[in-house]
Amino acid sequence: MNTVASPQATSELDRALSGDVRALARLLSLVEDESPRMREVVKDLLPRTGRARIIGLTGAPGVGKSTMTGALVGAFRAAGRRVAVLAVDPTSPFTGGALLGDRIRMQEHATDEAVFIRSMASRGHLGGLAAATPQAIRVLDAAGFELIIIETVGVGQAEVAIASLADSVVVLLAPGMGDAIQAAKAGILEIADLYVVNKADKPDAQQVVRDLRNMIALGTIEPGGWKPPVITATATKGSRDEGVAELVARLDAHWDWLCASGELKRRRHARAREEITALAFAALRDHVSKSGVDELATRVADGVLDPFQAAEDLLARRADDLLARRADDLLARRADDRALAEHED
Ligand code: GDP
Repeated sequence: MNTVASPQATSELDRALSGDVRALARLLSLVEDESPRMREVVKDLLPRTGRARIIGLTGAPGVGKSTMTGALVGAFRAAGRRVAVLAVDPTSPFTGGALLGDRIRMQEHATDEAVFIRSMASRGHLGGLAAATPQAIRVLDAAGFELIIIETVGVGQAEVAIASLADSVVVLLAPGMGDAIQAAKAGILEIADLYVVNKADKPDAQQVVRDLRNMIALGTIEPGGWKPPVITATATKGSRDEGVAELVARLDAHWDWLCASGELKRRRHARAREEITALAFAALRDHVSKSGVDELATRVADGVLDPFQAAEDLLARRADDLLARRADDLLARRADDRALAEHED
């Protein structure tokens, strides 16, 4: 489809990218609402993306993710870096309540223009949020935030998928909750680049570290690969905590390794591939539900059409639709060009 940004969208984009926080928030609402205008916006800002470092933070509820995010923001700000936080809750429908706490906890950064904090919750269907998060990351990246922290709320499959959008994934654990075995069951250990055992001020923290190390020792690391470090921290002490400082240093080291080893390029390619595939599947599913699949199903169920042929027919219809739409686009573009030429004459 030929998408030309409307002047309205362009100026909104310019404002957002030049540091207008309200314009930025409106742009993110477009993303969250899955607005059709989003496609134009993403196309326009794409050349300005690719510079931000994306850090994913995940772990069971209560381990201290929000507190740690606040501490990390403080540490990055102390180093003069611009930071954005996306707190993503894929499990609960949008109520505004669940995530409000995150914003309140990070209020110390509320007046800092170099910090942008946004909560995104699922508006009914999970796929929507999974598709919206990469666009939100692009908006923040284009707006010049050097670091984007994606904090997910729980530890389900959806959180794993969203944490996988990051360049560096930090998995948080804490004594008494979200222990190593639980985390392994939830599949989050596999995606971790760094482990943080938070609440190091509690007596059982070292036991969590030992369990975690034992579990990591079971896996294998390829030569030249990254060995995920295990750090202990006390997030409630804030950005001056030794563990938080170590996390920042290790994140920097991970970033250097990502760049030097070619892994960053590989990961970003894999993510783009996933994104395209998901969009294509979503479009196809939409097409299938609208384009006479029931009529084909009746014939297959009655035994007069085989399912392979039925699937081929469905895909052929999709190809016909696309060709027809492209021809319409072409005609519309020619008409625009003609009108413009007449106007210039
Ligand atoms: P989240 O649900 O993972 O985002 O966890 P929160 O950041 O909301 O923290 C849950 C609770 O643990 C809060 O009461 C925090 O104050 C507390 N907490 C966070 N970090 C620490 C820590 O390092 N030590 C202790 N003792 N409590 C902490």
